[in-house]
Amino acid sequence: MELHSTPPADGVIAAAVEMPEPDVHVVTSSGMLIPAHSKILASASPVLESIIERPQKRRSSDRNIPILGVPYDAVPVFIQFLYSRKCTEEQMEKFGIHLLALAHVYSVPQLKQRCTRGLAQRLTVDNVVDVFQLARLCNAPDLRLKCMKLLSNNFKAVAETEGWKFLQNHDPYLELEILQFIDEAESRRKMRRRRREQQSLYIQLSEAMDCLEHICSEGCTSVGPSDMDLSKHKGPCSKFSTCHGLQLLIKHFGTCMKRVNGGCLRCKRMWQLFRLHSSICGQPDECRVPLCRKSIWNCIS
Ligand SMILES: [Zn+2]
Ligand SMILES: [Zn+2]
Ligand SMILES: [Zn+2]
Repeated sequence: MELHSTPPADGVIAAAVEMPEPDVHVVTSSGMLIPAHSKILASASPVLESIIERPQKRRSSDRNIPILGVPYDAVPVFIQFLYSRKCTEEQMEKFGIHLLALAHVYSVPQLKQRCTRGLAQRLTVDNVVDVFQLARLCNAPDLRLKCMKLLSNNFKAVAETEGWKFLQNHDPYLELEILQFIDEAESRRKMRRRRREQQSLYIQLSEAMDCLEHICSEGCTSVGPSDMDLSKHKGPCSKFSTCHGLQLLIKHFGTCMKRVNGGCLRCKRMWQLFRLHSSICGQPDECRVPLCRKSIWNCIS
């Protein structure tokens, strides 16, 4: 049986006009023969080159190169890529994983890149386990990482798929590797969340510190140094969104009967802010924030 591969692109046909007759046949798993030019195959793939240059056992004008292990109809697409360096989106959709395997086995880096990209775009919960296994076999780290991310973000759904169940039964080491990655990804997520929370706390505190200095040195709408005329500060504070709340807290601290020792939480919060200020204050001698001088704190604490 002799079948021709999918019709090559226009440019290839134009080039084929001046091309010599095909001198080899690629044989697929179904026995289909695809005529091809040994020079083109050899220049596109070092593995095919070494097969072509291998001395033949039998003297024969027909040279057959078997390309097996993938569905027969993926092979013409592979050969077409060796000629044109192109394959369509439909071909990628239909034969992507087989083309990646062929690209790896026959060392065709351009096709490997194309497949890595194409398969990454088409990753789904249903195919991710298969693609992951292939990416691992074919040494495609980018694709492998994409699979891992999809796996760890959608693990519940992936665990229901046939692919995952098959993997559990046949490749426990790979299963372990995936579970470890998911575990680490979860720890990384937690760590990032904690860091974000710490950062936002730090920002809040640092704004509270600036606001405290602003109130105690410039004065604001209802609290300020005793020598300051507060009547000129009209309306809500334009500098700090927390200013009003902090002024209420300072006023409370000045008048509360329970105080910190009596267990007042608002006083405790104000106390902590004063204390934090005193620990970072750059000019304790001129500072107008109450209770700032370090010596006082040293006595109290
Ligand atoms: Zn203010
Ligand atoms: Zn209080
Ligand atoms: Zn101070």
